[in-house]
Amino acid sequence: MVLSAKTGAAQAPDTASGDGVLRSGEIVAVEGWPGEWELMGPGPGPGVWTVESARLEDRVSAQAALSALQRLADAPHVRRGDLVMQSYPEQERAAVVGAVFRLGQWVAVKSYTLPDGRVWRTMDAVDRLEVVTPEQLTAAVRLEVARGTHRGRIVQAVVSSRAGQFRVVCRCAPGAGEICRDGRKVTWCPSLTSARDLWDWHVHQ
Ligand SMILES: [Zn+2]
Repeated sequence: MVLSAKTGAAQAPDTASGDGVLRSGEIVAVEGWPGEWELMGPGPGPGVWTVESARLEDRVSAQAALSALQRLADAPHVRRGDLVMQSYPEQERAAVVGAVFRLGQWVAVKSYTLPDGRVWRTMDAVDRLEVVTPEQLTAAVRLEVARGTHRGRIVQAVVSSRAGQFRVVCRCAPGAGEICRDGRKVTWCPSLTSARDLWDWHVHQ
């Protein structure tokens, strides 16, 4: 299957149907070359992409003809530069994707910038990652709440099937600090109002 560059087309579907806009960071095959390659950028010149071998170390840079680039049937859904979160509802921290490569399964190098400016790098299975936008992170509610001796937070989930829902935590609660009602392990609230109600219930126990 040979891909052609087409502007204005929608993002390619998961099926390797052929057409679709190629984007930097995608992992592709190059006809006649061994291994898998990351698209680093178009050029130099027309009809050519600069590619690097899709692995962690000893990456080789090369120029590949556009007509030789082949989309992978199981291409990873994240690419270099994506903002990602581990896909579980309690996750609050996002990281930026670096190299993506196959290590049995697809894995991504992720970088977190710590509050003091240092960068923390770690690796994660791509299956566990969800791409998010800076706007999603900014919009997520993170409220400090306090009443009497209770010190807590109301936190909105950004990813997973709980995205948009709220959990309430307090330092006085055991484990991860989640406040629960009705004997559930974690009580998720559908709205900020119901989360505040749960907090009020908690501080009046
Ligand atoms: Zn408490």
